[in-house]
Amino acid sequence: MPDFDAIADRYGTPAYVYDLNRLEQAYDDLVRALPSGSLIYYSLKANPHPALVRRLGGLGARLEVSSAGELAAVLAAGQSCRNVLYTGPGKTPAELGGALAAGVRLFSAESFADMRRIGAAADRHSVHVDCLLRVNAPAAVGGSGLRMTGTSSQFGFDYEQLTAEWSAFRPPATVTVRGFHFFPVTNARDEATLLDEMTQSIRCAAQLSQRLGIPLESLDLGGGFAAPYAVPGSRPRYVALRAGLRKALDKWLPEWDRGRPSLSFESGRYLVADCGTLLASVIDVKESRGRTFAVLDAGLNALGGLSATGRLLPASVGPEDIGRPGPPIIADLVGPLCTPLDRLGRQVKLNGLAPGDVLRVPNTGAYGLTASLLGFLSRPVATEVIVSSGHVEEASRLALVRTTEGETQQ
Ligand SMILES: *Cc1c(COP(=O)(O)O)cnc(C)c1O
Repeated sequence: MPDFDAIADRYGTPAYVYDLNRLEQAYDDLVRALPSGSLIYYSLKANPHPALVRRLGGLGARLEVSSAGELAAVLAAGQSCRNVLYTGPGKTPAELGGALAAGVRLFSAESFADMRRIGAAADRHSVHVDCLLRVNAPAAVGGSGLRMTGTSSQFGFDYEQLTAEWSAFRPPATVTVRGFHFFPVTNARDEATLLDEMTQSIRCAAQLSQRLGIPLESLDLGGGFAAPYAVPGSRPRYVALRAGLRKALDKWLPEWDRGRPSLSFESGRYLVADCGTLLASVIDVKESRGRTFAVLDAGLNALGGLSATGRLLPASVGPEDIGRPGPPIIADLVGPLCTPLDRLGRQVKLNGLAPGDVLRVPNTGAYGLTASLLGFLSRPVATEVIVSSGHVEEASRLALVRTTEGETQQ
């Protein structure tokens, strides 16, 4: 366990501390929850810190990226672009060119036009690339919560469209379709939901392969593996998933255990959420008309900016009790930004609470810093500290820097 007080003393707050031992534990747990031989892609969207990418890559994870910046993090982490899957609905010719130049050769295609752009970019670079077709599968019977497919979506090919139009489509000569990519659910509420979604994807992949005449060499079943966000708690344990997946695969894709298709999965939050702890100092504790406010040095500029979408995050963080003697205090935890929206927690109960205290917000390794409002109010970005076996390996800080655009640049 990192010495959080010593880290706060040395590096100041707000600071994120990422514990690489916990990262390894999460990766091991996910490996054990999936059929053996499965590839696991780490989705950099959850946290692009190169030290996390480097450790996960070292453990055998592949890397799922969706921008030039995420690709730069892969390179900064010393990882090979041969392990990268490039995804996303808005890949521009310029970023495709950059990805190809760096050595990326596997893309998820989100539409016919996207596939043509991938093909054209490969042609310009005189290379051949592999593609997975991202599929927006038909709606599940019964539905299951946070689904992103089955309705209209900017992601992927609608199943119906693919089956209707594929035979008339001429895939670019520089592209080979290797299989399908599904990502129907995120942060699934329980194991049964996860298995249900993956089973539907397996069935859909088998049917599509038949109907489109695409040999299924590779199947990316996406993810949905859950994790707590900014509150105490532990990652779910998926004890039945492996057997459930094997059963579905035996039924629909009986050659899977001979590697046809090879299987892959994706995760952001399950892998990195619980390795991260946000340290924030209490600057002021004040009363206003019967309510107590604890003003912290971290707000939506450091955590929880995604809550602006009104969908992704719970409204309340739950710092661990710092064990201070004294009566419990119930306070709203607010950040330093000059907007009443900057509230991280409502009516949070903490024992004793005084200016100078350092609060620890657990489970903040995923969708923490880079999913926050980094530029809003122009405060310094929180420090990020990497810890391994209790020792600080590195500490760094992102900065937003204004650069001048050259007149001839486009
Ligand atoms: C966001 C995303 C992920 C990661 O989602 P988590 O819920 O963090 O595991 C994986 N794959 C794709 C395609 C994504 O867009």
